[in-house]
Amino acid sequence: MHTVFLSLGTNLGDKERNLNDAIAHIQRRIGTVVAKSAFVKTEPWGFVSNNSFLNAAIKVETSLSPMEILRLTQEIELSLGRTVKSVSGEYHDRIIDIDILLYYVDSVIKGDGLHINTPELTIPHPLMNERDFVLVPLKEII
Ligand code: ADP
Ligand code: MG
Repeated sequence: MHTVFLSLGTNLGDKERNLNDAIAHIQRRIGTVVAKSAFVKTEPWGFVSNNSFLNAAIKVETSLSPMEILRLTQEIELSLGRTVKSVSGEYHDRIIDIDILLYYVDSVIKGDGLHINTPELTIPHPLMNERDFVLVPLKEII
């Protein structure tokens, strides 16, 4: 089994429900959720909006590869009703955003884990260290 850390964010609708729904889908389709941070309220980052965010991080035990996880997290985003995709660094309000932060092969938690750099997927997530709304929940569970 491998270990993946995911970041979750939402700033539309019933935010607590959106996070819980996303976690339920992840548990069913990606793997066992072994740790879950508190849900933290944060202000929009990188764009202007009146809608504050609710963010969380989770730790998941999975047999899936990073690319398989990306495909499934994108399907889960769509099934929860996400419509707008960020294009060239422009951010928008969203029902749910699921990002892959860190991935540890064979669940050996050492350093920042597996490095991947493809057009579709970068791990560790390139902006995670600039974002308190990612780091604060992550530090709670790592
Ligand atoms: P953002 O998360 O920056 O708001 P999106 O969720 O719309 O933007 O994702 C845009 C693209 O980022 C996705 O289509 C995906 O291919 C790519 N991506 C690259 N690295 C990652 C990662 N570590 N986790 C999630 N998506 C990633
Ligand atoms: Mg995303």
